[in-house]
Amino acid sequence: MSKSNQSSLPCGESRRGVRRIVVLGAGESGSGAAILAKEKGFDVFVSDCGTISEPYRALLDQNGVKWEDGKHTEELILNADEVVKSPGIPLTAPLIQKLQAQGTPIISEIEFAARYTHAKMICITGSNGKTTTTSLIYYILRQAGLNVGLAGNIGNSLALQVAHEDHDYYVIELSSFQLDNMYDFKADVAILLNITPDHLDRYDYKFQNYIDAKFRITRNQTKEDSFIYWAEDPVIDREMKKIQLGATLYPYGFTQPNPLPVGEDELALKGRHNVLNSMAATIAAKVVGIKKEVIRESLMTFRGVEHRLQYVATVNGVRWINDSKATNVNSCWYALESMTTPTVLILGGKDKGNDYSEIDDLVREKCHTLVFMGLHNEKLCEHFGGFGLQIIDTDNLHDAIQGAYKAAHEGDTVLLSPCCASFDLFKSYEDRGEQFMAAVRNL
Ligand code: ADP
Repeated sequence: MSKSNQSSLPCGESRRGVRRIVVLGAGESGSGAAILAKEKGFDVFVSDCGTISEPYRALLDQNGVKWEDGKHTEELILNADEVVKSPGIPLTAPLIQKLQAQGTPIISEIEFAARYTHAKMICITGSNGKTTTTSLIYYILRQAGLNVGLAGNIGNSLALQVAHEDHDYYVIELSSFQLDNMYDFKADVAILLNITPDHLDRYDYKFQNYIDAKFRITRNQTKEDSFIYWAEDPVIDREMKKIQLGATLYPYGFTQPNPLPVGEDELALKGRHNVLNSMAATIAAKVVGIKKEVIRESLMTFRGVEHRLQYVATVNGVRWINDSKATNVNSCWYALESMTTPTVLILGGKDKGNDYSEIDDLVREKCHTLVFMGLHNEKLCEHFGGFGLQIIDTDNLHDAIQGAYKAAHEGDTVLLSPCCASFDLFKSYEDRGEQFMAAVRNL
């Protein structure tokens, strides 16, 4: 693999005359970027229109970074030479529009941090499976004894690691929002898992805009770099026929030569989607030069990620699975597809404009009972009402679990794979998963 060609700038040296850096949004990525910028000698200001949480305030204070929260003071922001924007802030936000109109460069934390490290970047994007695949690759690299950091949507800020404990490799989970504001960054190894419609509200409701954002992961790659992609994804396949990429290509999938050094049934991660994730991770590890034996061992011992098809408990012969992270219909499809027993499916929550017909066939094939858990189940009732399955309509976790408990027979699986966001009843998908697991363990 090639040496990264990202430039590394010495302290205090400005890039293209940049002196003042304003960081918008002081979460994990924003705070990290601010501290790195401060360390590199910039005039730094952090602004967050929400409340900055206590640990981040303390971190900024300790590092002498000026900040404000609960507002955006334009005089202190519009004079920036460059802005580092949190991926959570949409490009349509009025302040962002103003900055764009006056020509202020707006970049992501990853773009900023990458300027100050020579580490190899292994970057993962896709609509589903990012966290799983990122964690698996990180695990393999650690098992191989490499000095590796985990960054992006998962783990600690890349910028903070670059500032305080730089690594030789980073495994970085990238959302389309992060990719939107990346320009000079180059991934040594880029992985594109799949593309299905998601977050269209941030892309003018144009699927192609979202596809283009995902493909930005290949930006600046040359033949020394690797692009690993799922060749059977119809959207990726169509796009690959349209464009010419500079990177060395590594397609994977069930119709490609099998890269796995173990049998599918020996993989620690179960389910067809995880075979694909394991293939992508294996190719990435091979590209990095990791020995087959280490990859093999890692694929068999990886313990998975919380809230993704996570086994919870077996109660009276019924297996309970927490897949709370399935916040869209496509991930529920994969969860159902991996079910090997009759299934009671718990679904529902905050609907993001879902088209449930994608899971019709699998629901008919695998499920005998559907438990709806949400404040607005009308759409679910209407869609699945005529399937001839037992329907249990609930508006809280307790009733949903009790309903599923009564409906399940020995040998069945109860699967929480909601297709929906969690915000109607829970703080987050993690909260939903935690509460679910606690309640199941109390059955
Ligand atoms: P992300 O980080 O992209 O949201 P996760 O790894 O957290 O993805 O997995 C989210 C959900 O997506 C899981 O619950 C799983 O059921 C499903 N999933 C995982 N990998 C894939 C894949 N390769 N294709 C489709 N769905 C997947």
